[in-house]
Amino acid sequence: FLPHLIASLEQVDQTYIMVKPDGVQRGLVGEIISRFEKKGFKLTGLKLFHCSKELAEEHYKDLNQKSFFPKLIDYITSGPVVSMAWEGVGVVASARKLIGATDPLQAEPGTIRGDFAVQTGRNIIHGSDSPENGKREIALWFKEGELCEWTPIQQPWLRE
Ligand code: GDP
Ligand code: MG
Repeated sequence: FLPHLIASLEQVDQTYIMVKPDGVQRGLVGEIISRFEKKGFKLTGLKLFHCSKELAEEHYKDLNQKSFFPKLIDYITSGPVVSMAWEGVGVVASARKLIGATDPLQAEPGTIRGDFAVQTGRNIIHGSDSPENGKREIALWFKEGELCEWTPIQQPWLRE
């Protein structure tokens, strides 16, 4: 009874994961989704679409003073992206580990960027950097009604 109560009080977080246009073009969508699925996180939102310049600029607004900002916006709007919302205990930090370092040459083998990319400007995937930004980015990229509440049948097999 007590451990169950403690487990249920654990903070469940949300993270915004996006396969960038190069990841879509290179046919890595399935591989990327598969890694988060196999880890045991819960998918709560998924869509493929071509995002606007305005949305890309809002998403990356903290970087708008950087010299690479215009290139970054061109890159993110250069083709369709796959937007995903994932949920779970510790999902934000864990997703960042699965993704690997921003510079793919520094990313460890076994991480998504470490396995599939070579350049920071073509690093195939985005993941939120804090639970607060996870919530903010999901609200930015998904409209009302696009997220799905559900209970995966595997849940009791993932957490005691
Ligand atoms: P992330 O959280 O690991 O994605 O890294 P940041 O938040 O620091 O940067 C956001 C994104 O901007 C990165 O994933 C890259 O796509 C891009 N970016 C960051 N630094 C550079 C850079 O020096 N040059 C270029 N071309 N793009 C960059
Ligand atoms: Mg970032």
